[in-house]
This record gives sequence, C-alpha cells and structure tokens, in this order.
Amino acid sequence: MSTQPAPRAGDNPERRTFAIISHPDAGKTTLTERLLLAGGAIHAAGEVKARGAARRARSDWMKIEQQRGISVTSSVMTFERGGITFNLLDTPGHEDFSEDTYRTLTAVDSAVMVIDAAKGIEAQTLKLFEVCRLRSVPIITFINKVDREGRPPFELLDEIADKLALDVAPMMWPAGMGGEFEGLWDIERERLQLADGSFSPAPFPAAHADELELAQAGYPAFDEAAYRHGDLTPVYFGSALRELGVEPLIEALARYAPGPRPQPAEPAAIDPASPTVTGFIFKVQANMNPMHRDRVAFMRLCSGRFKRGMRLNQVGTGKQIAVHSPVLFFARERETADEAFPGDIIGIPNHGTLRVGDTLTDGPPVTITGLPNFAPEILRRVVLKDPTKTKQLKKALDDMAEEGVIQVFHPQIGAQTVVGVVGQLQLEVLISRLEVEYKVDAVLEASPYDTARWVASDDAAALRKLQEEHRSQMAGDRDGHPVFMAKDLWDLNYIQGRHPAVRFSATRERR
Ligand code: GDP
Repeated sequence: MSTQPAPRAGDNPERRTFAIISHPDAGKTTLTERLLLAGGAIHAAGEVKARGAARRARSDWMKIEQQRGISVTSSVMTFERGGITFNLLDTPGHEDFSEDTYRTLTAVDSAVMVIDAAKGIEAQTLKLFEVCRLRSVPIITFINKVDREGRPPFELLDEIADKLALDVAPMMWPAGMGGEFEGLWDIERERLQLADGSFSPAPFPAAHADELELAQAGYPAFDEAAYRHGDLTPVYFGSALRELGVEPLIEALARYAPGPRPQPAEPAAIDPASPTVTGFIFKVQANMNPMHRDRVAFMRLCSGRFKRGMRLNQVGTGKQIAVHSPVLFFARERETADEAFPGDIIGIPNHGTLRVGDTLTDGPPVTITGLPNFAPEILRRVVLKDPTKTKQLKKALDDMAEEGVIQVFHPQIGAQTVVGVVGQLQLEVLISRLEVEYKVDAVLEASPYDTARWVASDDAAALRKLQEEHRSQMAGDRDGHPVFMAKDLWDLNYIQGRHPAVRFSATRERR
C-alpha cells in the first residue's frame, strides 16, 4: 500500500485523460503502442508486472474478460510519465465505429488528432473533430508518417486551418519527408532530431531554412489559452512507426493538455476538486455472447476519490449501486489501484441497470449534461415478422434506445418504427439481442432516408411550415422531439436552405 500522505480534496494526482481521433490507417494503433511503450505500460499486451493491490485490480478485469466475454482491456489504456497518469480512451474505428466512438469524446479532457501526411484531413477525422468542437475539447495535432512522401507541410497546415476553422501553431518542422527526410526540428528548443532518433547539434538544414522561416512568420505562435479554448492546435510532426516525434507529443500532453475540467451539470457544474464522488456513464459494453446479460458500464470520474466497494446513487432512479468489483485501470507504477481520482475511468459490471448518460454520486442529486445523442448515419425500418409480438418489439426497442445502443424514430406517417445508428455494429447488436434476449423475430429494411436532424425554431410557424411541407420526412424521437429525416446530405442542405428559420441539429442532449 502507498505510504504517501492521503491527498486532500483539490490535491488530486495529475491526470491527462485523452483520446486519439483519426481516420482508419492514419496510425492510431501504432501511435498508441508507442505511447504505451514510452510510458512503460503495455498492459494491453500483458507486460504489466502486477504486484500488491495492483494484482487484484488486474485479475478483476481478466476475470471479467474471460467469464463474461467483454473486452475491456483496450477501452482505457493507462501509462505514467513524470508523475502524471495518462488515461488514453479508445475511440473504436473501422467496423466497430459506433455512437460509443463519439460518446467517448465526451469523457476526455483533450484529444490528439493524428493525420496521415500524405492524406491530410479525412472524413472520419472531421466527424470526430466536430464532436470535440461541441465541448471545445483542446486538440494537439500529430502529422504522422513523415518518413514517407507526404504533402507539403504548408498545404497540410492550411488544410487543417481551413477545414477545421482552427489556428495552427507549428511546434516542430520536418526537414523534408520520405526519401528527403533529414530530421525533425523542434522549434522551441531549436534542435534537430535525426531519422535514427538521435539529436544533432547541427542547425536546421540549409536546404529547408527558407521554409522554416516562412512557417514561423506565417503561423501564429503557440498560445496556451487559445489551445485550451479549442481555438488553436499546436502541430507536431513525426513517424509513429519510426518512433520519431513521439516523445515531444507526450511532453506536449504533459505540459499543455488540461487535467480534469469542470463537468457541465445541473444544478451546477461539477468542480473536479470537490470531495463528493461524482461520475457519469459514457459507454456500456455488452457481452459479445448474447446468452449472457452482463455488461460493463464505463464511468468517468468527475470529482472525489472513488474507493473500491463504495455505494453510489444512480441519479434519477435513486437506486443504490454497490460497486464491488469495479475495473480500475491503472499504470504500472500506480500502487493504489483500490482507488480512482478525477479523470480516471472505472468499469462497473452490472446486469443492465446502468445506462449511458447516468450520473452516479455519493452526494446530493446532480445531473451531468452535455452527453448528446448523435445524428444517425444509418436508418432502417423495423419490420416485425410475427404481428402478435408488437409489444415485445416496442419494449426491446425502448430498452435499447435507453441504453444508448440505438435511436428510435416514429415517422408521422405510417406505423413502422425507424431505428437509427451511427455504425453498422450497432445494427448487428440490435438484431442479435432482439432474437436472443427478447425472442422477437424482426428484419431491418432499407429506409428511403439515411440521416436525420433534430429540428427546432424560435418561430413556431416556420417549424410548422417545414412539418407540413415534408410530412413524409418528419418523425418524432423517443421523447417526442421533432426530427427531419433526409435522403442524403444534399437533400438536407437543400431543405435547410429553404427553411432558414429552422435549426437542424446533428446532436441532441440526452436527459
Ligand atoms: P490505424 O488504423 O489508424 O490504427 O493505423 P495503424 O496504426 O494500424 O497503421 C496503419 C498502417 O500505417 C500500418 O501498416 C502501419 O504500419 C503504418 N504506419 C503507421 N505509422 C506509420 C509511420 O509513421 N510511417 C509509415 N511509413 N507507416 C506507418
């Protein structure tokens, strides 16, 4: 056990809770491995030499993985550096891209945006960036793969500035890329890192000197306040594969990235220094074996000092949740894995009691806000095969909507329900759970619409006009909020242009 004095409220150990946003193949996995290696904590690869209290925590999650078939290891990866604990939250991409990917971004204090130097800003990066912008999450940019031919750095920086409407401040500058690569220049320290990782006392290579000068004159200098407001991104260059520029990135996270920020909540924002234990569920992972109803709910701790075995109140239901066998993610050197601090993530095994958006606290009721639903990108009509099962279907869809697996829309015309999801995986979970858990035989049919927006207006007549002109495209969500279903983005833009007094929103807060 730790011999250090017990921290007081407001005296929490330092945390950097962040996620990597990127498009598939930009290098997120490679960079993640490099970060974990650099922090000496590849716990995903099982290299952690667990001991003492840490061993107990580790065996907890191993048990969960084996018995329940729920993969929790890659959800949160923790490493330690210079007394700071870094919690890296995984944003599932590729085929398991889902609303969880977006929601994870509501549980971080900052993000690293990885960009492929040959490709620049790609579609998924942009989508994830927009979610960060909703909460003004500060972003550090890492332009990856400088060991290969890439686009000119100026072009990349200008693209970030234009497409994301962000100021860019280069912190490093590559002297050439690909075959021409001569090293990475650290602008602040004025030193050159060579391709083999060593540092050279040489000045910046003369062949690229004009470029560097232009870059320093043409872009704003780093401004910490602007970064923390989400208005400016410091830009690092490097190669995750060749382990170049990874150290400066970790250093940037340590120096500039914020620790736990106050969490928006009703009746008042939660101060991370408050002694009251408060957290919210941002993701619920179900067992991949649908015969088991076990889930792991991931809670982001916002304030207080969480201890194993603690009882917390589920705000809204008033239920007491005894957190007996939580999964505490920990870095190798962390001695006290029996407790967690603001910024940490706690995995809570349960049988479906805990849902996305829930607030848990040991203090007076408080409700975390700012956890939105995200506009679906896939819409499907649910067609019941056995009409006597209407009630069961409704119950199943309601349950899953509440858990955050799917969204449910009721079109104004017709009786069929439309379900919306952000990623294909969510549809697969839906079908499998309908069958196994609810014994409902249903199929999903293509819908004529492929995206939806919540609509609102200060001008009731304007909203009515939209609803009357496009009755077949209007629906209500689970709470009866009006939703416009669009055939595609072109259709959406067109209708939006014709109804300027109506706000079309891609997110809606869950309450
Ligand atoms: P992810 O899909 O974003 O997780 O990307 P991965 O980390 O899996 O990388 C995609 C591919 O790019 C893999 O083949 C990596 O080896 C390669 N890659 C990643 N980083 C670099 C880099 O810095 N340089 C080069 N040349 N290749 C890289």
